[in-house]
Formats: sequence, structure tokens, C-alpha cells
Amino acid sequence: MKRADKSSATPDASLADDGEAYSHKGLTYPLGRKGPEPGELIRIADGVGWARLPVPWSLKHINVWLLDDGDGVAIVDTGLDIAPCREAWETLIAGPLAGRSVTRVICTHFHPDHIGLAGWLTRRFGVPLWMTREEWLFARMLTADVRDAPPEEAFVYWRAAGWDEKRIEAEATKGWGRFSSVVSPMPVSFVRVREGDTLRVGDRDWRVVIGSGHCPEHACLVEEAGGLMIAGDQVLPRITSNVSLSLSEPEADPLGDWLASIAKLKALADDLLVLPSHGEPFTGLHARLDALDEGHRGRLDALHAHLAEPRRAVDCFPILFGRKIDDNSLGLATGEAMAHLRRLEVEERAARETQGGVNWYRAVRGG
Ligand SMILES: [Zn+2]
Repeated sequence: MKRADKSSATPDASLADDGEAYSHKGLTYPLGRKGPEPGELIRIADGVGWARLPVPWSLKHINVWLLDDGDGVAIVDTGLDIAPCREAWETLIAGPLAGRSVTRVICTHFHPDHIGLAGWLTRRFGVPLWMTREEWLFARMLTADVRDAPPEEAFVYWRAAGWDEKRIEAEATKGWGRFSSVVSPMPVSFVRVREGDTLRVGDRDWRVVIGSGHCPEHACLVEEAGGLMIAGDQVLPRITSNVSLSLSEPEADPLGDWLASIAKLKALADDLLVLPSHGEPFTGLHARLDALDEGHRGRLDALHAHLAEPRRAVDCFPILFGRKIDDNSLGLATGEAMAHLRRLEVEERAARETQGGVNWYRAVRGG
């Protein structure tokens, strides 16, 4: 049986939570603050159902959406490939979904809690997987990339961030490829969805709106006529999504992509009922986007001030997270700190100098 390793995979949530009062500012929860129990299906609107699957990390759950699709249902997001998620699906299939067929599986993005059971579900029902190409490629790549030890690029990245040699040596003894420990083998073929596509699902037309920064090509589904938005991890009500500089592309600017996506999503109607992957459906899209934007810009400014003296990524944790970073969260904290530092670099507010493989950052302008 597969077990979710605490330190495995990419968690969806940032370590920099904004606090209860702040993160609910301007939001309302028309369906209340309690979600469905495992195996239960809550009807949100005509032909739109909400179910929840357990997640072992601090997230606790992922929301999945079941859309009436002709004679059957389309599944949006799937949960991890771990026993409790499979059991929750079995309960749904034998209960609220009894007698109904599944028409397709749609995934918002490649993170394991979203895509973990995509292969299992599509094979079980003999249906296609629909998702964006970059997300499908990432999932295919990561499930195939299993090694006895981390690749050299990982050591370079950890050293650059300022990890001590003892910690780096400890990583060297671990295997690589934990993604596949919680993700069922991916379908080899898929149906591509892209920006601006309209997916006709049952009586509803869902428009694909792509966001980036949390992952490369995240699909949100917006159904304007019914006032609904399946937001995945692109907009979460309670927690800031994790935005990390990835090992695959260490010169990328994911936080820049994320801030640009926030601005793009502000073009959507403010009165949509947002269906997030974690937390409860809410209204107040623009207020939430503004709060996320402010949160990141505030952290960037604080980080800029902190760089009056040269710092490594590991020296920035107290400023960014205001909490102690333990061994389990070191990888996530590092990825997020690197994303913020990289953003300051791209904004030409910080300069990077590499000494002995370690990146040192300092502020280069007032601010
Ligand atoms: Zn995610």
C-alpha cells in the first residue's frame, strides 16, 4: 500500500499563512464553513456536486467536483493515490454515484493531491483524462523519474540556497521520485485543454482560464452563465498557495507569473461562486486576489529591507514565514524563499553573487 511521506511531493499551501481574520476579509461562504464528509456529495447547483477526499498533510482535505455530463458525471480532480482516498471514492461510487457512469476525468494541475488517482479512475471507467499539456507532461515526467539518489542539480540547488553540508549529505542517502509513491501511473494519452477553450459538460459551458506560478499551466474552469468558477489551487480562500522556484527551472520567475495571474483573474466577475480545492466555496474573488497580491508584495518589500546585508535564502525564513522551519518544511521554505528572491532579482531590486556555490543576495535599490 502507498503511504504519503510528509516531506514528499509539492504541498499546495505556502508556509506564509496570512492569519484567519486577514484571509477572510471581504469573503462570504454561502454554503457555510463545513464541507462534505468522506463519501458524501453536496449539491452546489444544478448538476454540480462537491465531495471531499482526505489529504494527510496539514491541508487535511481536497475538494473534488462532480459535474453532470449527459448520462454520467465528469470528475474534476482526483485525490492522492493512497488507501483513504481510494476508499472515499469507493464510498462515493457505491453511494451517491451508484448507477451512474463516469464520462471523463478533468485535472486542474499536476500536483499529487489533484492528479494522484487520475490514472486509476480513467482506467477503471475507461474514460479519457482532460488537462493542459504542460501539467500532463510534468506529471508524466515526474512519475517516470525514479532514482536511487537525488540528481546533481538538486545538490547544486540546495547548496546555492545555503543548506549546511550535513543536511545535504542526509539527502544524498534518500531515494528520488517520491511523486510516484502517491500518484497512480499516468495515462499515456490525454485530451488537451487550453486557454480560452470552452468545455461543454452537460448543460453548462466551462471556459478554460489558465493561471501560472503555483504550477506551470493551471486550468481554472469558469461558467459565467451559472456564476461558478472551479479555481483549483489558483485562488484559495484561507491559505496562500505555494509558489516555489522549481529545480526544473531555477532561472524562472514563478512569483512574477503568479502576480501576473492574479491581475489576469481580476478581469473575471467579482460575484462568481469560487470553488477552491481547499477550504469552502466563497464569493469575494476580487477581495481575495487583492489580499494575495498585497501579501506577496508586502513580503517582497520586507525581504528587500532584509537584504541591506548580504543574505542567503536560508537567512530569509524569519522574514518570510515568521515561524520556525523544521526539517519537514525546509524544502518548501527554501523553494518559496528562492521564488521571492528571484522575483526581487527580476525587479532589479536585488543582486545575486555566487561564492563557493552559495547564492548571496543584497538589495541594490532603495525601496
Ligand atoms: Zn497544487
